[in-house]
Amino acid sequence: MRRPLVAGNWKMHGTRASVAELINGLREQVLSADVDVAVFPSCLHIVQVLDGLRGANVEVGAQDCAVDPMQGALTGEVAASQLQDAGCSLVLVGHSERRLLLGETDAEVVRKFAAVQSCGLIPLLCVGETLEQREAGKTLAVVGAQLASVIEALGIDVFVRAVVAYEPVWAIGSGLTASPEQAQEVHAAIRAQLAEQNVEVACAVRVLYGGSVKAANAVELFGMPDIDGGLVGGASLNADEFGAICRAAGS
Ligand code: PEP
Repeated sequence: MRRPLVAGNWKMHGTRASVAELINGLREQVLSADVDVAVFPSCLHIVQVLDGLRGANVEVGAQDCAVDPMQGALTGEVAASQLQDAGCSLVLVGHSERRLLLGETDAEVVRKFAAVQSCGLIPLLCVGETLEQREAGKTLAVVGAQLASVIEALGIDVFVRAVVAYEPVWAIGSGLTASPEQAQEVHAAIRAQLAEQNVEVACAVRVLYGGSVKAANAVELFGMPDIDGGLVGGASLNADEFGAICRAAGS
């Protein structure tokens, strides 16, 4: 039985004041004991959030890291070892905004995935297709290739300590959500691809759905057999809405 995870990606949002408000709002939420919850603030606010959420049963992660795991001469980057030292437990890897807007390649995603794990942190690998790719019938091929780049470079066993998020690019921040059936089809394909290498690993890995998840659509999405929770962007900036999404993942 996989334990659901709901993760909030705060992206490049927040000031010290608004983050403090969000922390207070999150602390007021009644969270289900059977759902894992994590938030991913901007790097600048990670320490504030770690301090503010101490004892609240909410993990704190980073939205990205450098390809090299250890600190060194690389201006502007943050190493996974530094994130581990700060107290993070997870790192997003390969978010579509980084792949498409910043040109992050599969090869870089693989290196970041490995860097995160080498520091004892959990990578949350994001995969997903653009609208053009979906309309061309290429969804499963695109997502399959993104996943394959990690499996081929690092092996299947790395997924014992990783999370995958299926995030159709056309559904991110657009208000459009994949239907539960559309999402389930891709989640099942991701699990089947992992199962070709190792059935046990495939059955255990959590595959989250991301793309305009809200309290209003979360129950239906999380009710699908291969959807193990959500990666939530915009709605995670509202503590009450995010709390409701987390509760929707509970039994
Ligand atoms: C995301 O950025 O990972 C995301 C899913 O965003 P949103 O929920 O706003 O679509």
